[in-house]
Amino acid sequence: MEKLKSGAAKLGLQLGEKELALFQTYYEELTDWNQRMNLTSITGYEAVQINHFLDSLTVLSAWEPSVGNPKPEVIDIGTGAGVPGIPLKIIFPEIRLALMDSTNKKTTFLNHLKQKLKMDDIKVITGRAEEVAHRSPYRERFDLVLTRALAPMATLVELTLPFCKIGGKVIAHKKGNIAQEIESAKKAINVLGGKLEEVKPVDLPEFPDHRYLVVVDKIAPTHEQYPRRSGMPVKKPII
Ligand code: SAH
Repeated sequence: MEKLKSGAAKLGLQLGEKELALFQTYYEELTDWNQRMNLTSITGYEAVQINHFLDSLTVLSAWEPSVGNPKPEVIDIGTGAGVPGIPLKIIFPEIRLALMDSTNKKTTFLNHLKQKLKMDDIKVITGRAEEVAHRSPYRERFDLVLTRALAPMATLVELTLPFCKIGGKVIAHKKGNIAQEIESAKKAINVLGGKLEEVKPVDLPEFPDHRYLVVVDKIAPTHEQYPRRSGMPVKKPII
């Protein structure tokens, strides 16, 4: 886990033996299961350390649990094989983490992985954001909503902001030329009760491909009609 260790140090994180062992277990389980089911296309030892683990941890340049709220509620929407949620949980075991994905085979893997990592308190939810966001235990409950590679920004905010409590934030991992994408999401952000807080470039030599953390604050309640029924946020984004 040398690549991860040195990359994390650049983020100001000194990973100890315990954390590194958990990342190693995560790597082994991911690559083992990936031989039987397609969980990720990134499988090389160094590639996983950088593109899954370190990339997930960059969220810490935009967010940290605060002293006032030592056990924040965090949800990762469209988490796939557990990123970025699980790497964050390894670093901050005190967060209360929910992982959600619509694909059953992915959540089956996550239920197995949480046993292996001895993280019984992770909640794994199989479902679509369009539907789960209307259930009261999840609606406007989370301090932090994470998402990576879920959808273009206008769709993404409809699928994530309804989970966020007022005063909380959505942080989306994005890469490439995103200015236009963000511009066309401004209406959706406003309609859903959000406010674009910052677009923070990820400044690490490991990522020469222009990665950003898009931070959206939740400032007003989301109207109950959102998210619209399954498929609509993708088919007809609010633009
Ligand atoms: N976050 C992971 C996976 C990204 S792929 C990573 O960065 O590697 C997108 C994932 O979102 C897939 O696993 C897919 O099953 C899930 N997904 C897509 N639409 C969804 C929706 N509406 N609700 C919940 N999960 C969804």
